[in-house]
Amino acid sequence: MDKKFVDLHTHSYRSDGTVSPEALVVLAKQRNLAAIALTDHDTLEGLAEFMAAGKKHNVPTIAGIEMACRYDKFHQPEIHIVGLGFDETAPSFTEYLANLQAERLRRNSEMIQKLCDIGLPCTVDELVKTSGGHVITRAHFGTLLMQKGYVKDRSEAFEKYIGDGCPAFLPRSLPTAQNIIEQIHRGGGVAILAHPTLYRLDFGQLDDLCKEYVSYGLDGIECYYSTYTPNQRKAVLRLAKKHGLLPSGGSDFHGDNKPNIQLGIGMGHLEVPYACWSALQANLPDIQ
Ligand code: AMP
Ligand code: FE
Ligand code: FE
Ligand code: ZN
Repeated sequence: MDKKFVDLHTHSYRSDGTVSPEALVVLAKQRNLAAIALTDHDTLEGLAEFMAAGKKHNVPTIAGIEMACRYDKFHQPEIHIVGLGFDETAPSFTEYLANLQAERLRRNSEMIQKLCDIGLPCTVDELVKTSGGHVITRAHFGTLLMQKGYVKDRSEAFEKYIGDGCPAFLPRSLPTAQNIIEQIHRGGGVAILAHPTLYRLDFGQLDDLCKEYVSYGLDGIECYYSTYTPNQRKAVLRLAKKHGLLPSGGSDFHGDNKPNIQLGIGMGHLEVPYACWSALQANLPDIQ
């Protein structure tokens, strides 16, 4: 029998991707994936359409989310945690996410003000028009600055204006890792450390981070990811084994916002075994 593969990390236009939740399911079917999770940033908005599309197209779909916290040690990178397999209708999530979104709204209007102050007039309404949902990230600021003709592409927007430390950048104030992990468990999901190689931490520092997050109940870690080299994959698998973390992984597909990343296969060679999802599924906690 053919080997079965899954994609446990993807984004729709409900956060900073460019395709609809249903289109993700259709793509998953075309790629013959055995299951797919939608993990939009800070929102469950796309999940009703996504789960319904799974039934319609006969593709197993998994409710997911991606949330950020800050790691206080070293250079304080923003760490991403993916939640998988929770009950997307659990009321405990809704209020929690409403608070995160309120914080984003506040930050967005302050960043718009900063852009106006440096001579790039723009409005919150214009920003909202660049998105398909309530979660508006700096990716949308990039699109807006491009549409306005202030920059030639998104990279220039990040380099000159909205990248970390740039004149119109504001850091987000974020919940703690412990808080996010507990929230995911309360909804009946498993908590996964996303793309550990993207934080500019070496493997010694990641070892410390895993130890700390395991004490909060972290369940898994992304051992398969679009940008990993074979050596990085092996190193993350070793980290998983050492800390008793279950391997997970995905493409981090964002549609046209990351044009070099394809669903399921990443940059061409990604293969996330179905067994990852079976093992994670067997570890889903009861809803509290
Ligand atoms: P935020 O959560 O609002 O800080 O924004 C995060 C979004 O900005 C994600 O979609 C990232 O992929 C995108 N992003 C962050 N840095 C860059 C960059 N240098 N170039 C392009 N996109 C970026
Ligand atoms: Fe993203
Ligand atoms: Fe991420
Ligand atoms: Zn992601």
